[in-house]
Amino acid sequence: MRVIDLMDAYSGKWNSELIKSIFSAEDCKRILATPLSSSNIADSRYWWPNKSGEYTVRSGYWLAKLGRSNGGDLVEQDTKMWRQLWKLDGPPKLRHFLWRACSGSLAVKERLHRRHVINDATCPLCGSEDETINHALLVCPNIANIWNVSDLKDKISNAPLAAFKEKWRWFSENLSKKEACSVGVLAWAAWLCRNKAVYEQPVHCNITIAAGFLRMVEEYLEYAAKVFQRPNNSVQWSNPNAWLPPPMGIVKINTDAHVLQGVKVGLGVVIRDNRGAIRAAAVKSLEPRSVEIAEAEATRYGLELARRLNYDKVVVEVDASNVFHVVNCPSKGYSPIYTIYDDIHLDGM
Ligand SMILES: [Zn+2]
Repeated sequence: MRVIDLMDAYSGKWNSELIKSIFSAEDCKRILATPLSSSNIADSRYWWPNKSGEYTVRSGYWLAKLGRSNGGDLVEQDTKMWRQLWKLDGPPKLRHFLWRACSGSLAVKERLHRRHVINDATCPLCGSEDETINHALLVCPNIANIWNVSDLKDKISNAPLAAFKEKWRWFSENLSKKEACSVGVLAWAAWLCRNKAVYEQPVHCNITIAAGFLRMVEEYLEYAAKVFQRPNNSVQWSNPNAWLPPPMGIVKINTDAHVLQGVKVGLGVVIRDNRGAIRAAAVKSLEPRSVEIAEAEATRYGLELARRLNYDKVVVEVDASNVFHVVNCPSKGYSPIYTIYDDIHLDGM
């Protein structure tokens, strides 16, 4: 079977009935979420880790660090975890520390040994095992008292036996926001105590340092609540640029995409004339796909509708930044979204 056999020869769209009868639900979702070009373009390969679909050394390095070749779920899970991490309540330095711990960039001996910077990976403080990030932050007897006096000790012991990143994923999914934040603060304090012991060797009390960190973060949160005063997750809808009618003899196309993450995508188009009268309106729903792809699909949908209705002079109002950018600075790329961008260029230029 060839890929073209999965497309409807008449409409050029995916034959969803056929695809659903052959593939698993997960594969169906992926196939149907892949945009198809409405023109007859040549097949090409593309490099999925990069937005444009072109290979770059940077994205290759990133992929090599990830250590697996199949993106999909892994990237989705990771994206969710990083997003949660960057939204964690607390000072930016705490988030930065956690990012370093999760991405394996804390300079523990095991990491340095692996990079051939030093010959020995043993923990410099207890000498009992290799100093991994987990060991330095959660296990080492030198900092164990930080966790021993905390009521989070039992909870964190349920986290999977895996790298710190996986543990952190578990914390953020299984602990309350406040608890996860406290785990982050105590790990941060443990790291500071470790560094003090390794580089300064003074006599100091870990617990006092950890308690000071917790207090500092609490004070920061109180301060941030006063200063930043974010409305409680309320979504504000505003339209700073009121709709303006197009010149006479021209119609204006407004498009929108509504993405219900992981469920479906809705596209909407309205075509209006210079008096603001609606000449055409259409909606359609698609399989789930990214916001960027959905916005581009909406623009293409609007242009297709205008073409079908024989409107040859049109103004397209675009508020999706990716579409706006690509219309203004045409660029070449190989990832699936470019099949839509190319159609937009063909239809709209
Ligand atoms: Zn140790």
